[in-house]
Amino acid sequence: MQLFEVGDLTLVRVLELEFPLGPAILPIGRDPASLADSCAWAKPQFVTPAGDVVFALSTIGVVSDERRIVIDPCCSFDLRRDNPDIEERAAALLDDLLPEAGFAPQDVDLVLNTHLDGVGWNVRPGPDGWVPAFPKARHVWTRLEIERARKGEEEAQRRDLASLAPLTTAGVVDEVEASHRVTSEISFRPSPGHSIGNVDIWIESRGESAVIVGDHVLNPMQCADPDWAGLDQLAEAAPRIRRALLSECARRNTLMIGPHFGTPGAGRVRPHGDAWRLEPEPAR
Ligand SMILES: [Zn+2]
Repeated sequence: MQLFEVGDLTLVRVLELEFPLGPAILPIGRDPASLADSCAWAKPQFVTPAGDVVFALSTIGVVSDERRIVIDPCCSFDLRRDNPDIEERAAALLDDLLPEAGFAPQDVDLVLNTHLDGVGWNVRPGPDGWVPAFPKARHVWTRLEIERARKGEEEAQRRDLASLAPLTTAGVVDEVEASHRVTSEISFRPSPGHSIGNVDIWIESRGESAVIVGDHVLNPMQCADPDWAGLDQLAEAAPRIRRALLSECARRNTLMIGPHFGTPGAGRVRPHGDAWRLEPEPAR
C-alpha cells in the first residue's frame, strides 16, 4: 500500500492488480508508441520502457470527520463475473488487503464512487448471489449517474443497473448532487466527460489538496495530451474539463490520484511544454 499525507489526513492507496496493457487496448485514438516516446517522464511508473500503458486497479481509503471512507472500489473489473477465481479475487482485496490497510469492510461507513460503469467491489459474491461488500456502509453515487443507468437505453446501462441491484435492494445507496459535500474535508465536483454524472473527489485539509480522478484521467499521459479521449462518453466536453482540472492541479500543487495509474498511483501536475506532465509522488 502507499500512504500520502494531505494536511491532517492520510490517504491510503490499496493496490489490487497492476499490469501492462497491450498497445491495442490503450491509448484509444492515439498512436501508443509515439505518445509514449513523447512522454519519457512517464516511464517506468506509468508507461513501460517498451511503451505499454501501465494499468492498475486500486482503491483509496481515508478517515475524515471520524468516518471511515473507501473511494472508488467501482474502478475494478466488473465484466467477468463468471471468472472462476472471482471469489478469491474478492477475498484478496476485501478480506486481506483492505483490512491490512485499516479499512476492514465491516468498519467502513461510506463508499464514494466517481462514476457508475459497473460496481466493481462495492459488491462481492455471497452464497446466494451478489451482496454488499461493505455491510454497514452507505454507497454514494451522483443522481445523474444512477438516472443514466435507469434509463436503460443501452446494453451497458442495463448492465450497470443490474450490477447495482444488490445495493439498491438492500437500500444502501445514496444519490447525491454532483457538487455534494461529503465531510468538512471531502467534496464531489462535477466533471462530465468520462460519463455525464462523473465527479472528481476533492480532499482538502490545512491548505493542501488531493483529487481522485476516477476514469476521468485514465493514464498520466493524458497530462501531455488532454485531448486523448480515453474511454470518455462525452468526447467533446471531456478534454476541456480535463484541461481545467490539470491547470488547477498545477496551480494549487494538488496531489492527483488515479485509481488506474501505475504505482505510486499519484503525482503532482507540472507545466511541460504547452501542456503538463505528472511528477510521481514519493509514497511512504
Ligand atoms: Zn469508467
